[in-house]
Amino acid sequence: MLQRNHFAIRVMMIVFICASAQGIFVREAQAIDTPQTPVEKKVALTFDDGPYGEPTKQILAILKKEQVHATFFVMGENVEKYPDIAKEIVDDGNVIANHSYDHPKNMTSEPTKKFDSELILTENAIYTATNKLPDLFRAPYGKTSAPLLKKLHNEKYLLVPWTLDTLDWNFPKSPASVIVKRVESEVRSNDIILMHDGRDTKIGYPRDNIVEALPIVIENLKKEGYTFVTVDQLIGKSAYFDKKVGS
Ligand SMILES: [Zn+2]
Repeated sequence: MLQRNHFAIRVMMIVFICASAQGIFVREAQAIDTPQTPVEKKVALTFDDGPYGEPTKQILAILKKEQVHATFFVMGENVEKYPDIAKEIVDDGNVIANHSYDHPKNMTSEPTKKFDSELILTENAIYTATNKLPDLFRAPYGKTSAPLLKKLHNEKYLLVPWTLDTLDWNFPKSPASVIVKRVESEVRSNDIILMHDGRDTKIGYPRDNIVEALPIVIENLKKEGYTFVTVDQLIGKSAYFDKKVGS
């Protein structure tokens, strides 16, 4: 009797172990078969050197039609020239950011005192036009230096570079078709894509290439499964200071 009981217990144990093992295998098989949650593909479109009159308005119309938001790194002197367009940028749900006052050729070799005026004059122009105080800054030509970085750090600005240059500024070497192909072949998730709605007002050149390329670039990226975010959303930081100091 005792032996039979022992036998029964051993059989039960073997069945239990087999069932458990099978359960583990099933769970493992399920884990292998379960499709991974797809990683969200994101890009941030950025436009520099505006607002610039008609080209900026055309770009805003395209973004609105495509239901996409972008980040505009504006020049203070252009905001003074086109305050209504600066306001339209923000009213449309886009982000406005600081890109210096007059786009100095070599901001890094300027005396540090010049940094103050480049930042403050632009802050004032943007605040007057939009009631926003950006805390995102992109250096003209992407050039930085230790004193400039220190100044930005002290003023609690976030320096924003780019990771994909459409080279649209290189007009006429970058017609729309070349810009479209360049983005298509180089784009990666989390890219910050550099384009230009404006230009130093003293130079001036047509923005036809980017206006023509933009809807195609957006459609292609949508087909590839990309979603569009503003830079602050991409890096998980705020785009604006809470309030103007001293106001
Ligand atoms: Zn620029």
